Amino acid sequence: MQSLDAFADEKLAALEAKSLRRRLKTTRRHDGAVVERDGKRLISFSCNDYLGLSQHPLVRAAAAEAALNYGASAAASRLVTGDHPLLADLEKRLARLKGAEAACVFGSGYLANTGVIPTLVGPGDAVFVDAWAHACIWAGAQLSGAKIIKFAHNDVADLQRLLEAERSQARRALVATDGVFSMDGDVAPLDRLSALCEQHDAWLLSDDAHGVGVLAEGRGSAALFPDAHIPLQMGTLSKALGSYGGYLCGSQAVVDLLKTRARTLVYATGLPPASAAAALTALDLIEADPALTQQPLAKARLFTQRLGLPDAVSPIVPVIMGEAEAALAASTALEAQGFLVVAIRPPTVPEGTARLRVAFNAAHADADIIRLADAIGALR
Ligand SMILES: *Cc1c(COP(=O)(O)O)cnc(C)c1O
Repeated sequence: MQSLDAFADEKLAALEAKSLRRRLKTTRRHDGAVVERDGKRLISFSCNDYLGLSQHPLVRAAAAEAALNYGASAAASRLVTGDHPLLADLEKRLARLKGAEAACVFGSGYLANTGVIPTLVGPGDAVFVDAWAHACIWAGAQLSGAKIIKFAHNDVADLQRLLEAERSQARRALVATDGVFSMDGDVAPLDRLSALCEQHDAWLLSDDAHGVGVLAEGRGSAALFPDAHIPLQMGTLSKALGSYGGYLCGSQAVVDLLKTRARTLVYATGLPPASAAAALTALDLIEADPALTQQPLAKARLFTQRLGLPDAVSPIVPVIMGEAEAALAASTALEAQGFLVVAIRPPTVPEGTARLRVAFNAAHADADIIRLADAIGALR
């Protein structure tokens, strides 16, 4: 189809002209925070494997053993024959970690949000979304058919105003936010959001992809707010837990409904045994070693102190460069010095806020962090 390729070529050329074309780069990850690209070894500040657990010998062995015992795939939707024995164990462990009644495991975090939100709200309902929430929260909101109402990032007063104006027109209401924001590393005011939600009969969903394993001794961002009531605690197994997959922790009733109706669970193959086993072993390691879970944030704070930035509150620190070209140039300069710090550009972040997103790992050496901070300091 000539018109198809012409369309693709034109679209790519337009993106290229704005420095917004993206390319995959084959990357081999090694122990610790070392990656290899084009035969060159780099210290990575771009992996989300905050505790290095994807490379941990026990996690790898658990994945291998599960593949040998149960097969390489779940081979069907969980509702057909894909509900292999590790999934129930994993759900119990996740629910316990989050202090919830029950949990539902999905094939990924993206599938969790795009399954959960449309199960709970639809046309005639409203979903209030933090402006900086992750793309898969927006995708879930769009799929639901509910009215989408964006509130200013972490702005409780704005959400209050919008709830007062809009809540009464909607049958059901959901408020969705990241717990730790993926590109900014800041934490949502979950206590105040929760209080507002209770006041307006809205259901709070918090996406803790970047909190679990690294905040509150591994329990995640919600545990920083003991007074918050968060009925929908979503997260991923693919960051600090070093595996792959997503989950929602909540009441038994909500989890039962998801397992009956969430389309990304009903019509997608279950999480593979190896991924479930890896996550279970990662949870063992996290629970056995709370000091490990504190490392990524401590490393991030060393970096922010060295650069004179506000204290980090999560393992993610953005260094805003402005235009996409500036972020790309900084990333290239750092690579020449042995650091991998990927530039993040629109549409992942708003126009004019292209940045280096620096993510810290328990395995980073303090000396390397200081070297990186000084190198970035020299580029700003
Ligand atoms: C990475 C991420 C997801 C998606 O999780 P996957 O398991 O990678 O699909 C969802 N929400 C946030 C905030 C994320 O950073």
